[in-house]
Amino acid sequence: MTASEHAITVDKEALKRKYMAERLKRLRPDGPNQYIRLRDQLSYYLEDPYTPRVEREPKTDHVTFTFIGGGFAGLVTGARVKEAGIDSVRILDKGGDFGGTWYWNRYPGAQCDTASYIYMPLLEETGHMPTEKYAHAPEILEHCQRIGKQFGLYEHALFHTEVKHVEWLEDRQCWRVHTDRGDAFTTQYLGMGTGPLHVPKLPGIPGIETFKGHSFHTSRWDYNYTGGDPAGAPMTNLADKRVGIIGTGATSVQCVPYLARDCQRLYVFQRTPSSVDVRNNHPTDPEWFKEIATPGWQDRWLENFTANQTGNITEVDLVMDGWTDLSRRIRSQINKLPPEDRTPEKMLAAAEDADFAKMEEIRRRVDSIVEDEDTAQKLKAWYRQLCKRPCFHDEYLDAYNEPSTVLVDTDGKGVERITENAVVVDGVEYEVDCIIYASGFETGTPFTDRAGYDVVGRNGVQLSDYWANGMRTKHGVHIHGFPNLFMVQPTQGANLISNIPHNLTEAGKTIGMIMRHAQETGAQEVEVTKEAEDAWLELLKTGAGRRMIGASPDCVPGYYNNEGHPPGPHAWLSIGYPDGAMAYFRYLKQWRERGDFEGLEFR
Ligand code: NDP
Repeated sequence: MTASEHAITVDKEALKRKYMAERLKRLRPDGPNQYIRLRDQLSYYLEDPYTPRVEREPKTDHVTFTFIGGGFAGLVTGARVKEAGIDSVRILDKGGDFGGTWYWNRYPGAQCDTASYIYMPLLEETGHMPTEKYAHAPEILEHCQRIGKQFGLYEHALFHTEVKHVEWLEDRQCWRVHTDRGDAFTTQYLGMGTGPLHVPKLPGIPGIETFKGHSFHTSRWDYNYTGGDPAGAPMTNLADKRVGIIGTGATSVQCVPYLARDCQRLYVFQRTPSSVDVRNNHPTDPEWFKEIATPGWQDRWLENFTANQTGNITEVDLVMDGWTDLSRRIRSQINKLPPEDRTPEKMLAAAEDADFAKMEEIRRRVDSIVEDEDTAQKLKAWYRQLCKRPCFHDEYLDAYNEPSTVLVDTDGKGVERITENAVVVDGVEYEVDCIIYASGFETGTPFTDRAGYDVVGRNGVQLSDYWANGMRTKHGVHIHGFPNLFMVQPTQGANLISNIPHNLTEAGKTIGMIMRHAQETGAQEVEVTKEAEDAWLELLKTGAGRRMIGASPDCVPGYYNNEGHPPGPHAWLSIGYPDGAMAYFRYLKQWRERGDFEGLEFR
């Protein structure tokens, strides 16, 4: 326990009332529908500013394994499938290269929020030493390219290619993939890892389409307009520009310091402040890295982080960051309870106490950094830490001490209107030359809507229909009626959200082993049985359900909780293994190593 934890006492009842008032102020009847879906309107915001599109002939060939999505999921799965001896691996991506989220998000200051040593996949295999505890985006993108090169994944890759439709060909025991490039090729196996947050969205602010100045979404940063580069070089073109940034989530927190440095005037339009805890980034000491990077080191670090982050006891916390700090505090609060008092209610109350103290500390940090009292007051987050994505940054709050930076707080209401040349809040027009939308990504829409294609499995069953009442899988990977198809994502598996890549590397390993087994046994098809899929869902049901605090009805609205609206009858399906992420990874390892892949049929 830290000294500050001892020092902080809060009036819990007053705090709860304040949190509730902040929630109610923000609830809107249109909930998740308040955003503009860029696939339907204003789609030019989706264009790729980074890589020119090159025309090519459509593909009508056959490959053994295709993966949709060239981010971490595609890369780690592609690598394992290649290692399993399958040479003909094709990765498709709508971006112009590998990288997924790191291909698109090149805004200045972009960096990982989870320590690089566990966030960046396949470090041991590639021999790469992250240069910092929290690597910046260009290094992560380069690492994606490194994986692509090392495992020969560029060979058949198709970039700037969007899948439109996928169908199972029963007579040929393979999939046919149709794309926006006119491709219609076949593939024996298909993997899908399109990521949870890959379709940018804009706020549905009245008049947004009438703005005549320049504008872009943070995931399509226009360096031609701003100058500078993703490594943070000065954006010299902004020296005479008035810029408005809308949104104060994790993205905005990272790029605001750079905008504050370079703009003539920066208006930050805030609806809900983020909680911004210390970052404590530092360069990696090569001597230290040499010492820790002994065989098996990354798996040990991954396990240690997952254990610490999910409330398991370990001798040491290797990562020691904001994520494990929160868990440590909760554990220490619970440990104070005498054993006979450790009822679920009392343990939840202890966790709440730890959270109240943590958030109070974060609010006091604002006062200690931001000079203007009114601005400091408005930058304070009044909700439990996991109601919104926690942020960690050492320069964000200082940005508000720049005379050119103005926080325009909308008191939970959001921007009122956009005109030809201004952003309007509470009747006041803020004239701007450029609007940057840090307004996040589509989430909560059906998988097939977000992915942009449907999958037609055995007997003509569409995935959108099969999942009409919620996601159905075994391990979040296998779907009955969709043979030779694998999903790579966290839900219905470990569901570990603080280090998504851990979920992906485990799924990649599993798929690699399944591919090897199929080859060794001469099987042409692999499919989960209906019974095994049903049994998995029954097992998930035995857990506590959506345990994420962000999903709690007391939270301020946001994408963690369907913008404060009821999550719908099938939300319980967006969960993980009942005993938690550590137990899931242990279970999965044993399942793989037993070698019979119980629940799957190989034909
Ligand atoms: P978010 O969805 O988190 O934030 C969108 C922002 O736009 C919010 O502040 C929201 O306010 C605001 N907003 C929406 N509508 C309006 C409106 N009408 N007027 C004013 N403000 C409005 O998007 P981000 O891109 O910041 O982050 C998305 C996710 O990406 C993160 O949660 C995280 O998971 C991931 N990410 C990860 C990073 C990392 O690991 N390093 C870095 C950046 C992002 P309100 O809160 O009130 O809804």
